[in-house]
Amino acid sequence: MVGATGTPPRADGSGAPVTDRLTGLGTLESLREAIACIAAERAADPAPFTVGLLNLDGFKPINDLFGPQSGDDILCQVAERLLACVPDGASVMRTGGDEFAILLPYVFESRTAEKVGAMLKEVLSAPFDIGQSNVRLSASAGFAIYPFAGSEAGDLIKSAATALYRSKRRGRAQITVYSHEIAQEMRRATQMEQALRNAIIANDIDVHFQPIVDLASSEIVGFEALARWCDADLGYVSPACFVPLAEERGFIDALSETLLRKAAETAVSWPKNIFLSFNLSSAQLIDPSTALNVLAIINRVGLDPRRLDIEITETAVMADAEMAGRVMTMLRNVGTRISLDDFGTGQSSLGRLCDFTFDKVKVDRSFVSRLTAERSTEHIVRAIVDMCDGMNLQVVAEGIETAREAEILRKLGCGMGQGWHFGKAVDAVAARRLINENATRMLSLG
Ligand code: C2E
Ligand code: CA
Ligand code: CA
Repeated sequence: MVGATGTPPRADGSGAPVTDRLTGLGTLESLREAIACIAAERAADPAPFTVGLLNLDGFKPINDLFGPQSGDDILCQVAERLLACVPDGASVMRTGGDEFAILLPYVFESRTAEKVGAMLKEVLSAPFDIGQSNVRLSASAGFAIYPFAGSEAGDLIKSAATALYRSKRRGRAQITVYSHEIAQEMRRATQMEQALRNAIIANDIDVHFQPIVDLASSEIVGFEALARWCDADLGYVSPACFVPLAEERGFIDALSETLLRKAAETAVSWPKNIFLSFNLSSAQLIDPSTALNVLAIINRVGLDPRRLDIEITETAVMADAEMAGRVMTMLRNVGTRISLDDFGTGQSSLGRLCDFTFDKVKVDRSFVSRLTAERSTEHIVRAIVDMCDGMNLQVVAEGIETAREAEILRKLGCGMGQGWHFGKAVDAVAARRLINENATRMLSLG
């Protein structure tokens, strides 16, 4: 073993290269050899050791923006930093474009692997010097511990790759240590992904509609479209589960298009004063074609864009503020309204309200459910309502489950409400029935 360095080139010059020309580190081939070597040394007493895979987050756009020379500079600096900080006895390899491996002979358990991961993350978070500017990067990591995660080099590397893949899926700068539970979680996600893709093609994903009412009169003023999926094998799957999965696996557009088409086909037959509220996910807001796609769909169906409300969350806006702003402006230009969903759950809600032009704010259920128990929540909601009034924003309270909550919110000046107290999400036929009943009630009230 070579302590805290790259692995030396193979003397016989045969087979796959063992030295990376750019960084001088060992390669995937040398990682395989080194694992086989430690495993053989420890054959009698299989003491654990750890393999880590590190992948830089967002390296490609930086490479594209600053050019391949700067990309190479960064990779060399990553190599130097890794070599300088890994524990004694460890070796570092470059196993792919922006992927590195670390072999840790004296890391025996998850907690220590996590600590090493956190230290590497920290070391790589400092800016990289590329001549005229500095860039910042983060890295995701996956670790696998021998022999639990695999007793052969191939299996161990595969387990580390599974752990890395999970880290990548969870966003930037994540660390995962492989376990059987994680492997199972990944298998389940893949199974669900396949079922979901098939369900989209078979047109099996449904849309239900939850009424949004005027709190003063209880009149239905709109409906929020909510995705519904019941799979033959998996049973009912919550959209809170499958929408993020479709986002992660890159087919949220296909899912969202089907949902919007179905929702708009239903909404087009409602009275003109009833609006349709539709959720867009964060991945869609960083895509410049989203606004045109949305408008093309409702145009084909014949739904007036002024009857459409688009719900977006703060996290979505924060992912790429400039692009989100552009998408929102394009929609607002044709009269579609934008609602800020789950208000109060994000980190800088107040700032967001000023930076972007919204039409509506949806106060998160967590405030509503605390209303009757905590007096302080009432003050917070009152402050939100006052602030929205001052900014000419409409307010919808979400998750109203009781008449008492509805009453408090009405007194606090909240204009609209939504929740099980007024009705759960129902299919298109039942939504139509609600509209008819609502019309009859309004008529009888004169
Ligand atoms: P959301 O946008 O915050 O939707 C409101 C969620 O609260 C819905 O859950 C709704 O059924 C639930 N809810 C409504 N009233 C009450 C209540 O009084 N009490 C309680 N406990 N819950 C209530 P659901 O349908 O499971 O949807 C979960 C999330 O999945 C949604 O949260 C939204 O983020 C996402 N989602 C649903 N449909 C779509 C869709 O078509 N597109 C996208 N991008 N996301 C969707
Ligand atoms: Ca929503
Ligand atoms: Ca919400």
